[in-house]
Amino acid sequence: MRNLRVNGERLWASLMELAQIGATEKGGVCRLAATDLDGQARQLFMRWCEQAGCSVRVDKIGNIFARRPGRDPVRAPVMTGSHLDTQPTGGKFDGAYGVMAGLEVVRTLNDLGYETEAPLELVAWTNEEGSRFSPAMVGSGVFAGVFDLADGLARPDNVTNVTLGAELERIGFAGPEPVGGRPVKAYFEAHIEQGPILEAAGLPIGVVTGAQGQRWYDITATGQEAHAGPTPMPRRRDALVGAARMIDAVNRIGLAHAPYACATVGFVQVSPNSRNTIPGRVFFTVDFRHPEDAVLSQMDRELRQACESAAAAIGLEVEVKELWYFPPAPFDAALVAGVRDAAAAQGYPHQDIISGAGHDACYMARVAPTAMIFVPCVGGISHNEIEDAKPEDLTAGGNVLLNAVLDCASAAAPGEPG
Ligand SMILES: [Zn+2]
Repeated sequence: MRNLRVNGERLWASLMELAQIGATEKGGVCRLAATDLDGQARQLFMRWCEQAGCSVRVDKIGNIFARRPGRDPVRAPVMTGSHLDTQPTGGKFDGAYGVMAGLEVVRTLNDLGYETEAPLELVAWTNEEGSRFSPAMVGSGVFAGVFDLADGLARPDNVTNVTLGAELERIGFAGPEPVGGRPVKAYFEAHIEQGPILEAAGLPIGVVTGAQGQRWYDITATGQEAHAGPTPMPRRRDALVGAARMIDAVNRIGLAHAPYACATVGFVQVSPNSRNTIPGRVFFTVDFRHPEDAVLSQMDRELRQACESAAAAIGLEVEVKELWYFPPAPFDAALVAGVRDAAAAQGYPHQDIISGAGHDACYMARVAPTAMIFVPCVGGISHNEIEDAKPEDLTAGGNVLLNAVLDCASAAAPGEPG
């Protein structure tokens, strides 16, 4: 493992310049997918890539690929990147960091005169956030064959209904290249952690071993509406009381599978939602996450049992409908080991970590060996305008990315045989 270093100041300066596109008053960024601002950020990224000697191509779903040639043009590329779109109240680092860290890797290799055997490709994926056009990770999802291209392009804006395809056309990023269907030697993504673990442990690097699986549910408990005064307690079929017990069970299921399980009810509708009527119907959502499929299945069984027994106790009917299942996405053991070795070679304290959030890497893991590098963010806060990260941690992540990529792309120093 080599021990090269990126230019941390240049990386920081690029991040700050990019963050001006869509900058908000509170210091964040609002750069929704396929808006004019997204178009400006894409243009800037492409200009920087061309200045770094890369050839740039855009595919039909707007993913941008900037290629630094390798000695062997036949080899599949080693790819790295992330996304340029943000949440409406997003920060400067989510996504942007992975793209700029990749660019800094290319700039550093240029400075040092390194050639790689395999070509390198920087990528900026379209619509990772899923905020303007749901679902999330559409660009990488189409690339990985998870979604149809036509479906991806037809995703409607959640307010105006204009499609992602029409908006990409409008901002000049409905490219000519076919989406995916080509070999990728490896995919690396650097990202802020978006959680508190690394900061609390005082570690600059998280070696991401995979992403959690998720199961999402729609649950409806149905009882009977009745007058809040004349209906004696034993005769009630109160859907909200039943739902409250189910929601408590969701929380207990999460706690029972510590430390990795997450279990959340984030949306509840009570019907008729009237002060003096016993609720006849409650709808709520459940979001379960765990890195192991077997545990997720166990949580699924426990949820169904808890809902049925809570319903039976007060004579409710309950429907538990699984809405979405995203299997755990373990990353490639050899690439993950490469990230770990790169961190160790640089002398960075690090730990293995599971990604709690979805990332483009989760879909890329289905079609290419994949690994991610996490760096801490201040207070673990993300999807927020106050999202922040320390320059030295971002530099550390850039150094780990550089050496992991070089190792994978069979680098040769100037004058060295490949
Ligand atoms: Zn992101």
